[in-house]
Amino acid sequence: MSKLSNLVEENDLGEWRRTHYSSEITPSLENVDVLIMGWVSSVRDHGNMQFVILTDRSGSSQIVAKKGECSEHLYGQLQHLKQHSSIAIRGVVKPQKKAPNGAEIMPSGLKVFSMAKKPAPFEMQGSTNVGIDTRLDLRALDLRRDHLQNIFQIRHTILQGIREFLVKQNFTEVDTPKMIATSTEGGAALFPIFFYDREAFLAQSPQLYKEQLTMAFENVFEIGPIFRAEPSRTNKHLSEAISIDVEKAFVDYNDMMSLLEEMIGYIITLIKKKNRDALEYLEFPLPSISSFQKYPYTEVVEILQEKGERIKWGEDLTSLALKNLQPDKSSSFYFITDWPSSIKPFYVRNSIKSENICESFDLMYGTLELSSGSTRINRKHELLERMKKQGLNIGSFDYHLRVFDYGVPPHAGFGIGLERLLMAITKTDNIRDATLYPRDIDRLTP
Ligand code: ATP
Ligand code: MG
Repeated sequence: MSKLSNLVEENDLGEWRRTHYSSEITPSLENVDVLIMGWVSSVRDHGNMQFVILTDRSGSSQIVAKKGECSEHLYGQLQHLKQHSSIAIRGVVKPQKKAPNGAEIMPSGLKVFSMAKKPAPFEMQGSTNVGIDTRLDLRALDLRRDHLQNIFQIRHTILQGIREFLVKQNFTEVDTPKMIATSTEGGAALFPIFFYDREAFLAQSPQLYKEQLTMAFENVFEIGPIFRAEPSRTNKHLSEAISIDVEKAFVDYNDMMSLLEEMIGYIITLIKKKNRDALEYLEFPLPSISSFQKYPYTEVVEILQEKGERIKWGEDLTSLALKNLQPDKSSSFYFITDWPSSIKPFYVRNSIKSENICESFDLMYGTLELSSGSTRINRKHELLERMKKQGLNIGSFDYHLRVFDYGVPPHAGFGIGLERLLMAITKTDNIRDATLYPRDIDRLTP
């Protein structure tokens, strides 16, 4: 560290390198020369003392300069610092009970890498009442806000948890094409793109590819984007979302419901262990993970009809209608199972009990759909029959149908939306705040 103290101040990095993150500035470093880097989150002038709070990815540190104790030049520089500027501070650590982590830094040098040119249009701490579009227009700065930092740290843990869990369960991580020739499920709105001299589409789901891959790897998962032209403006639909897709050979939908439930339990346990500070800040208990209840679709329709909802068997269940389910079902995870075949995609296998019902499930959190899954059809003739019934152009699925001549195993799987899961876990109402750079019908930048 003594080498650093001889350096002259300049605005580029030079030989300056961080020695500690701000969370590591504790009384145990008393009298140690340190160098921290980050952003100015506040500057306070107390007459003959300057207080600067520097924030980095780990938290914040307090820097205190006393007139007469630090050089006049440095004191003047600190006085002129602006919130959000990117800086490096060198100095000596002193214990201070009132400072973050019980210690502060007496500065001996400063580098201003980039001075903020204007104040931010929103507060960085606590909640903000600035409209979401103002924040999204300056998303990179918005993402520095405490609230979003906590949400996205939890997102990171969810992804880590999913990978850890599925790898332990002998799944292979795969990636499937996002530029595709035909729609996966028919009907749904796709984004057309130019593919050399042909029209192609952005993939709405890895569905058919992940099913094919059970032939080669048995158990596969993919974490990747799905693209859906959703023309309506809602708080739970994006044009580009991240889907966690899981597919497994030699199992059925009941096995996949158990796997999904276990996976969510694993994630929540990991968040409790890794994101204690974020949970405390967000002030909420994590959703309960006691065993998820299963409600057959038919039963749900009956309950809703009894409550006066005008819903007919065979129709999709809207969030509005689902609000009328019992209170215990509106505040926790639960499955709705055995949906009418007519409202599920062609690759979902019919129930042995009835032709009108299929082996399918949606995982719900309150009125929010988190995931859809099912047992898939693995016989070609059944698949052809269903495709014809749904009016799909069989010729354009030739690339898919041909693998069914070579032993597609019985298989089942699900897709779960990462943003929706993050919304449920962090009690976020608008999906845009569970997305770094959301895309919707009104937004293509930043
Ligand atoms: P919804 O009925 O809510 O529009 P869906 O039934 O069309 O969803 P699926 O095709 O079942 O969606 O996709 C599986 C999961 O992917 C959904 O349960 C959801 O978590 C997520 N998902 C689907 N579409 C979107 C979207 N437009 N934005 C965000 N997440 C989505
Ligand atoms: Mg669905």
